[in-house]
Amino acid sequence: MKLVFASNNAHKLCEVRAMMPAGIEVQSLHEIGFEHEIDETGTTLAENSKIKAETIVEWLKTNHKWATVDGVFADDTGLEIDALGGQPGVYSARWAGSAEANRKKALRELEGKDNRNCHFKTVITLITNNLTTQVEGVVRGWIATEEYGEGGFGYDPVFIPEGYDKTFGELPAEVKNSVSHRARAIANLVEVLKMYDY
Ligand code: IMP
Repeated sequence: MKLVFASNNAHKLCEVRAMMPAGIEVQSLHEIGFEHEIDETGTTLAENSKIKAETIVEWLKTNHKWATVDGVFADDTGLEIDALGGQPGVYSARWAGSAEANRKKALRELEGKDNRNCHFKTVITLITNNLTTQVEGVVRGWIATEEYGEGGFGYDPVFIPEGYDKTFGELPAEVKNSVSHRARAIANLVEVLKMYDY
């Protein structure tokens, strides 16, 4: 089965490919020839995930490529920090600007706070010929007191997942890919895809 992953994020693509079972080929936007930015104009992760998937389906249809794939899926992810009322949430990418500025802002906003609990949430939208559906994945954890590790991307160096004492930036990719928000959302996606007998 051939699916397009509606993302230009090389880290996400690498993680998703490592998580998918044999039999499901994941194509990047670059591979299908889509080189534009998609405006994330939604106010929820679910809306933005749907906007990304729909944009690519429309583009494939317009360019007569829809019949060459079995479907499109898109991931939208947010970090929701309890003590900040769920911020930055859907605005996680644009919170302070760059990934580094975002991490520094999380550390600054939680300075002196005991409650550092938070979670990552990923919403995936899948669109095929006969189905549009959404699945999600959540990993709970907390924000470290400083940055640790060089691995992963985005907020990974400041996020410690439940059950561990190291950040996603320090933990091996295999560990992140087995417990992360994205891993859980992809596992739910794969359950849906089983109906296609990939
Ligand atoms: P988006 O889903 O690409 O819109 O990502 C939203 C924000 O969350 C961006 O700042 C990403 O860097 C960050 N982000 C998304 N996924 C992860 C992850 O797995 N770990 C850490 N940060 C992430």
